[in-house]
Amino acid sequence: MNSHPSERVQKMEISATLAMAAKARELKNEGKDIIGLSLGEPDFTIPEFIKDSAKQAIDENYNSYSPVDGYADLKQAIALKFKRDNGLTYGLDQIVVSTGAKQSLYNVAMAIINPGDEVILPAPYWVSYRDIVKLAEGVPVEVKTTIDADFKMTPEQLRAAITDKTRMLWFSSPCNPSGSFYHQSELEALAEVLNDHPNIIVVSDEIYEHINFSNESHASIASIPSLYDRVVTVNGVSKAFAMTGWRIGYIGAPAWIAKACNKLQGQVTSGANAIAQRAVITALEAPVSKIDYMIEAFHQRRDLVLKLLGAIPGFKLNVPEGAFYVFPDISEYFGKTLRGKTINNASDFSLYLLEEASVATVTGEAFGDSNCVRISYAASEDSLKEAIRRISEALS
Ligand code: PMP
Ligand code: GLU
Repeated sequence: MNSHPSERVQKMEISATLAMAAKARELKNEGKDIIGLSLGEPDFTIPEFIKDSAKQAIDENYNSYSPVDGYADLKQAIALKFKRDNGLTYGLDQIVVSTGAKQSLYNVAMAIINPGDEVILPAPYWVSYRDIVKLAEGVPVEVKTTIDADFKMTPEQLRAAITDKTRMLWFSSPCNPSGSFYHQSELEALAEVLNDHPNIIVVSDEIYEHINFSNESHASIASIPSLYDRVVTVNGVSKAFAMTGWRIGYIGAPAWIAKACNKLQGQVTSGANAIAQRAVITALEAPVSKIDYMIEAFHQRRDLVLKLLGAIPGFKLNVPEGAFYVFPDISEYFGKTLRGKTINNASDFSLYLLEEASVATVTGEAFGDSNCVRISYAASEDSLKEAIRRISEALS
């Protein structure tokens, strides 16, 4: 019997974020005192009012299949959220609800990319983008950004990366893994380049929208009128409402893209979980101020982590304006031998921290930047302090 999986799956990378989280969990189960700073997952519990609405949905017998693209009243709540928070007008035929933003992104890639189409990914990018593009038989075109430019792509870099085959520009702001936040003026500068290339679709992953510590409010690239008709705005509830396990994400998009995603999803997973959809209506209708306490905690932790990591020699840091990650350049350690272990690259460094400091991080290689590691500060201040104390000791 041929017991090989398809070539498609063989060529895929395992999600490095999930793999590291699984490894940390396994070590913990073996009794090791691991501090997990690998997974991008808020450490808060879900606000009570959201839990209550899920309980109510169970009692009200929401047990049937929902429409493939989501309940109409949820899509209405999403349309209002887009208007309220992003100044974007989307009709219900432009919205599709999916099983997490990850599925939303996968749908969009499968619905738009043809074999050989190029997709520009400013690097560092979130780990799954590259593999989703490849699954859709597209060609990822990585544009390397630098820590000195706060890991943001410049208009010149964008222009230089565009070819006749470019079909898509795909990025997140605030960015996972760098925490970079593109300000309105920076998006407008990118839009000027895109205005010369009307066939490029923009996928704007805004799942960290609310986790923004800058003085400017969140900017959505779809709010630039010349681009509105070709931007897919992706969002979800995993990060803002600490609802990672509930698996609800959504898009606002041109109607033809929403229709294609709906068609695809109808053959793959159908509508997302009914109870979770009902709870998300409550989450999105609530004033954003209900989650201020989480944002404030992330802000304080960011400052703490920058201060403590900044005191360790060999950590080059910038100040991320959003999300809950720092992405230090640790390339000064390459070629060094510590406790008999030689560190040649970011993966070695991350593994060294796991083995010698019992702290789980994710190698930058998974995100297209081989000089950095990603440290999630979605953990308590005590855990962060202890983790960084151990890192400092293991590297001294
Ligand atoms: N985009 C980014 C940038 C993310 O960090 C994540 C985190 N998992 C996702 C999408 C997917 O989120 P979800 O949990 O909604 O699938
Ligand atoms: N987005 C999170 C992360 O980057 C969750 C893990 C995942 O879905 O890959 O860690």
